[in-house]
Parts: sequence; C-alpha cells; structure tokens
Amino acid sequence: MKILVAGELNPDLILRNYSAFPCLGQEVVVEDCTLTLGSASAICAVGLAKLGNAVRFAGLVGQDQWGDFVVQALVNAGIDTSGVRREASVKTGITVSISSAADRAFVTYPGAMAVFGTAHLASAVMDGCDHLHISSYFLQEGLRGDCRALFAAAHRRGMTTSLDPGFDPTERWDSGLRDTLTEVDVFFPNEVELRGAGGSDDPIECLRRLDNGRTLVIAKLGRDGCMALDHGNLVHVPAFAVQAVDTTGAGDSFNAGFLHAWLGRRAFREAMRFAAACGALSTRAMGGTTCQATEAEAEEMLNGTARN
Ligand code: ADP
Repeated sequence: MKILVAGELNPDLILRNYSAFPCLGQEVVVEDCTLTLGSASAICAVGLAKLGNAVRFAGLVGQDQWGDFVVQALVNAGIDTSGVRREASVKTGITVSISSAADRAFVTYPGAMAVFGTAHLASAVMDGCDHLHISSYFLQEGLRGDCRALFAAAHRRGMTTSLDPGFDPTERWDSGLRDTLTEVDVFFPNEVELRGAGGSDDPIECLRRLDNGRTLVIAKLGRDGCMALDHGNLVHVPAFAVQAVDTTGAGDSFNAGFLHAWLGRRAFREAMRFAAACGALSTRAMGGTTCQATEAEAEEMLNGTARN
C-alpha cells in the first residue's frame, strides 16, 4: 500500500501559556514557544508514516527557510517528497497558534497553501499509489475546484479516496463540497465541520443528510469520540482517556489511524476504535506530530481498554 497525500505544507509556531490574551497596542509574554511541522495534510502524512505506511507527499512551498524546514520534517519521517514543488514566486505559509490550557486562537498566513493546484502536480504523481487523501478543502483555494476531478482520476486507477474538509473561514460550507463528495470514499469532518456541511445542529441528522450512498462519513467529536452511519446504523466509539497536553492535529492523527486500519481491511468499528486511539495518543505532547502513535502503541491502548 502506498498513500498519496496532496495538500498544504507549512510550519506551526506555537506560543503557549500567555500572561494575557494579546490586545491591540499591548505586549504580552508567553511561557513557551515551539516551531513545528503544521498543516493538516502534513500531520496526517506523518501519522500514516509513523504507523508504517509508505507515503508520498505532493504540495507546494517557497524557496525559503520555512520551506526547507517542512520538507526536511517530511524526509525525517521517511516520506517520499518527490511530489513537493518548490517555487521562488511563492512564500511558504505559516500558522501561529496562541494557546493556553483553556483554548487556542490561530492566525494563518496561507501563502503557498492557497496557490497549490493541479498545475503543480507531476503527471506521474499517482503512479504506484493505492489511496489519495486530501485535507483542508476550504483553505486550499487553488486545489479545491479540481478535487472532484482528482478523486475521479484516482478512482479510475483503482485507488480509494478520502477528504478532511477543515474549517471553512467563510462559514458558508458549500464551494462544491457535496458534489466533490460523490468521488470521496471516506469523509472526516469534526463536529463544527459536520454541522456546517450537514446544515443541522443535530449530528445524526447531518450524517443522514450527507449519506450519498457512497461516502463513509466519520464524524470526529473531540472528547466525545467519533460516530458514523454503517449501512444506516449508528456506530459511536467513545474517546480514550488520556492526559491531553495539546490537541493540535488530533483529527489528522485520527484520519491517519482510520486510513491505516481501513486500508488494512479491519472491520469498520475496529477501524474507528484504532483511529480514536491514534487521535488520543497524539494529544500527549505539544505539536501535531511530536507524539503520534506507532501501531504497537495504538494496539496497546485498544487492548488496555478491552481488559477494563
Ligand atoms: P479535530 O482535531 O479535527 O478538531 P477532534 O478534536 O474531534 O478533531 O479530535 C479527533 C479525535 O481525536 C476525536 O474523535 C477523539 O477520538 C480524539 N481526541 C481528541 N481530543 C481528545 C482528548 N482530549 N482525549 C481523548 N481523545 C481525544
């Protein structure tokens, strides 16, 4: 199995534990600061690699220091970066996360992530791959309009496909999403994204409305775990208990866990449990990729719960 992840690639600058939340005209200090690999697509790709999968990444970064930093992080994770284009005409984007134990605020400069599109993909990018995953549908303005065609091309090659919408900064939740889903095998919204895409405050009603007969919709509900409809029957898997330090990228690690288990032909509910274990384990440290699960760690968490 080789998994192609096509998407945005940028670092996260995490500023942790502020003395007061910043206001215009004032300076505040924070207790800690970390520069780490960010972006939903990259965090999912590294999670898949950590679980032992062969992964190719396709994306766009600038010829700048942050571009060097994120490409090196993918190489260090054992990911094939042959699909990453570097161009002097764009700047690598960045997300600044201002966090406390209670909550977080994000400031993103999209840079290359909004420019990346199919024009940056080599014609052979899907060769040898079995699955195509795309994250941050709404943030990737350059790729979004071509996602459906890209997924259809993957299907014609016998590949499977998955999509994580990410947050829609316009909060309109349309931009061709429903149409794109007709070529998506697994869709991974979190709770807010589920309500947005499903158009209801009731998560179960959203799952019903998004049921197009093809797409498995797996709703990620944070500390309430995850749920989905399996042939019309509701499946709910509770979250595993962990001492969460930082939940950045938990959903991306969850996606990696689900894809690993589902592509490995585990039963649907078991794949959801494996994903929930990967999501929980990823929260043990600062940053999205610092503490992602190995297969053995995820199994240990699953078995530990089975014994209780
Ligand atoms: P996203 O990061 O996309 O917003 P969630 O916050 O729902 O997604 O997290 C994805 C999954 O990770 C959840 O469904 C859950 O299984 C797991 N998870 C997230 N936060 C926690 C937590 N604090 N404790 C245990 N598991 C968690």
